[in-house]
Amino acid sequence: MRAWTIGRIAGIRIRVDWTWSIIFILITVSLAVGYYPIVFPGLSTAVYWGLGVISSLLLFASVLGHELAHSLVASRQGLPVDSITLFVFGGVSQIEEEPRTAGDEFRMAVVGPATSLVLGGIFYGAFLAIRPASGAAAAVAQYMGIINIALGAFNLLPGFPLDGGRVLRAILWGASGDLRRSTRIASLVGQGFAFLLIFVGIALLFSGNFIAGIWLAFIGWFLNNAAVASYRELIVRQTLEGVQVRRLMTTDIDRIPEGLTIEQVIDQHILSGRQHAYPVTRDGELVGLICLHDIRQVPREGRTTTTVAQAMTPYERLRTIGPTDDLAKAISELGRGGYEQLPVIDAPHHLAGLLRRRDVIGYLHTQSDTGKQDLTGGPPNGERH
Ligand SMILES: [Zn+2]
Repeated sequence: MRAWTIGRIAGIRIRVDWTWSIIFILITVSLAVGYYPIVFPGLSTAVYWGLGVISSLLLFASVLGHELAHSLVASRQGLPVDSITLFVFGGVSQIEEEPRTAGDEFRMAVVGPATSLVLGGIFYGAFLAIRPASGAAAAVAQYMGIINIALGAFNLLPGFPLDGGRVLRAILWGASGDLRRSTRIASLVGQGFAFLLIFVGIALLFSGNFIAGIWLAFIGWFLNNAAVASYRELIVRQTLEGVQVRRLMTTDIDRIPEGLTIEQVIDQHILSGRQHAYPVTRDGELVGLICLHDIRQVPREGRTTTTVAQAMTPYERLRTIGPTDDLAKAISELGRGGYEQLPVIDAPHHLAGLLRRRDVIGYLHTQSDTGKQDLTGGPPNGERH
């Protein structure tokens, strides 16, 4: 998936995924050709297309407003917010941590749909106020009013990970104190709604309503995946929380001095090696990391002249972790960069070990074998819709 950063609001990156262009075209066309000419007849074709484009952009702003509400409440609660991404099914706030209390979760979840409902009320109020005067502006205001209210209402459905599902989870969590069970129930309700949407979508398909049918079925499919994944992520996070990195890190590591050439590295380390990546040292201090990928980037004819120091990822650009950090933090760092391992640092430039992804996955499997729920990996994240 490709996404572009279009700016920052309150320090939060705003990104647009390429799939958003699908919804942009679909909505612009259906409004310009279908909706506006029927509901507000008598305007020119050019005006209808203009209204279609303006409405799509306003919808973009409305979804962004909904996500910003989630993100601003999250950052006020001290949770780091990385970015907001708009994509084909709406928006996602990338919040790096989960809320700490049921009350925090409730406030963070409910503020999104509340924002949509308030926006809907303002647009619809504007429509009622200007209706007699201007046909075009009234048409857009009415449509934006309806779509924002629909957006707010849909997100309030009580199936996790929709906002309403998070509200439901927060209420159950607050009442019982059991986060895992509350998430399980809210995810099952979420899957129920997902299957209902798929069913209605297929029914619409057979009744000849092709686009709406496919659309609903797709949203249902997406929701079902999200419900299953969110529950699994919670289990993974709970299993890894509080377990220190040093328990799983490898300390028996082959290190490479920075002055070796790539050819020497291949002969002396890679051919007999068992590591995917090698810490690079100068006088015993860690100065970088070189992996098989870095070595492959060096052209064959340059292998005798290029040194490790030239081909490695330097210390300043390395993602590292501390030996007393917990594995939940480690797996999200591994997942974010798609790394196979993280250097474990107990003081600046001092390597304590390497934490390998496969050891974390292995640990998860042993935990699931010894009586806990089934889990099949997947990095935890804090996506919020
Ligand atoms: Zn939301």
